[in-house]
Amino acid sequence: MILDTVTPNRRGFLGLAGAGGAALALGAGAAQAQKVRTSARILILGAGAGGAAIANRLADRLDGAEITVLDGKQEHWYQPGFTLVAAGLRPASYATSSITGWLPRGITFVNEYAAELDPEANRVITTGGQRIDYDYLIVSTGLTLDWDAVEGFDLSMVGPETGISAHYASPELAEKSWHALDKFTDEGGVGLFGRPATEMKCAGAPVKICFLGEDIATTKGNRSKCDFIYNAQAQNLFGVPVIHHRVRQIMDERDITYRYQHVLKGIDLGAKTATYTTPEGEVSDNWDFINVIPPQRAPQVIRDSGLAWADRWVDQGWIEVDMQTLRHARYSNVFGIGDINGVPKGKTAASVKFHLPVVEDHLVSEIAGREGTRMYDGYTSCPLITRVGRAMLVEFDYQDNLTPSFPGLIAPLEELWISWLMKEVALKATYNAMLRGRA
Ligand SMILES: Cc1cc2nc3c(=O)[nH]c(=O)nc-3n(C[C@H](O)[C@H](O)[C@H](O)COP(=O)(O)OP(=O)(O)OC[C@H]3O[C@@H](n4cnc5c(N)ncnc54)[C@H](O)[C@@H]3O)c2cc1C
Repeated sequence: MILDTVTPNRRGFLGLAGAGGAALALGAGAAQAQKVRTSARILILGAGAGGAAIANRLADRLDGAEITVLDGKQEHWYQPGFTLVAAGLRPASYATSSITGWLPRGITFVNEYAAELDPEANRVITTGGQRIDYDYLIVSTGLTLDWDAVEGFDLSMVGPETGISAHYASPELAEKSWHALDKFTDEGGVGLFGRPATEMKCAGAPVKICFLGEDIATTKGNRSKCDFIYNAQAQNLFGVPVIHHRVRQIMDERDITYRYQHVLKGIDLGAKTATYTTPEGEVSDNWDFINVIPPQRAPQVIRDSGLAWADRWVDQGWIEVDMQTLRHARYSNVFGIGDINGVPKGKTAASVKFHLPVVEDHLVSEIAGREGTRMYDGYTSCPLITRVGRAMLVEFDYQDNLTPSFPGLIAPLEELWISWLMKEVALKATYNAMLRGRA
């Protein structure tokens, strides 16, 4: 079998928007691929980044397929925008749009969640009690934020009155989180940041909001009143060693305190303390501002479905897909796209862009009686904002190799204005092109 690895050499996630009109040119290429005639029933769970995009791509590639998309939400959230909202750079509305506006014509959208999944019977039951039988299933439900796992915490606490921020939760709560950060950087005190011990989407986002907060305090002339403490769950500040070293260097330069193996266990709003588990036992800190990012897991319906790994990530429930083909290891008519996949890297929208051609290829090839050849190499990217107006465009693969989209042009570990522009402007255009199936 000839393998066609989907490498970022074709200009990573941002390549398309960065290259301007090239986005449309490539999109036309996908649409021009020959259509395959089929009556297959394809069910897509979730209409987020992965679900909406694969629906568009399959509608382009297949003629006669019965494509159904299931999602109980009505709003689509552009989550990479949450960081900009939480730093006061965009309003909440920047990150919201209507789900149906992204879906292609000729498919069926069921505005309900999957409530039961039976991969032996190729059947899903919706929250409204509908039964949907499928020939192929694409799981793109994203992940669940386990807020209940943080003791003493409730999303209703988020805002400037409490100093609690939770910018992962929603566009509205990202905006409230900004009001909390704004107040902290006006008044000063201790600001706590950190990440959960589970796998998580956009592992750079907890670092970004810490850097942005520090930069905002500096710009306001209030840096000397503010302590910034970043709590990492592991023995590093980022899972990729070379990025860890760079982040540590920047934190040292900017007098941001960092601690390893500190995992948020709970908060006490009355006492304004946070408790962390550490190898030496529990420690408590006072805070004036705290950014809470909870443990992240597969939605319960997926964890109950028999699709999850039995011996890896058992407390998290990611689905057991082959790390290169993204096809389920035990149910060959099931594929995964996006955050739900149990693979060692890749919980970013940028990774979704590289999941899409792989799943499309294997699914369409099988329908056409051929064998798919495309492979996912772990491509993950995260424009790591370091200040308002500066970012590092870090991109890497399963082997922790840096895989820059613009080698020789944009240095991945330098804080650059062009990388910031990629995040602030180009990322959304690329993301939207991806949703339409054109990137
Ligand atoms: C603060 C923040 C910053 C980020 N920054 C970046 C960044 O800079 N760059 C980047 O590339 N990525 C970033 N990401 C990550 C990126 O947003 C996700 O990796 C991406 O959205 C994953 O796509 P997905 O389709 O797997 O899940 P999602 O886009 O989350 O969509 C999942 C969909 O599935 C639906 N669903 C859930 N359960 C069910 C069910 N039972 N039945 C049917 N539907 C269901 C949901 O309603 C949702 O619409 C960031 C995320 C956050 C939160």
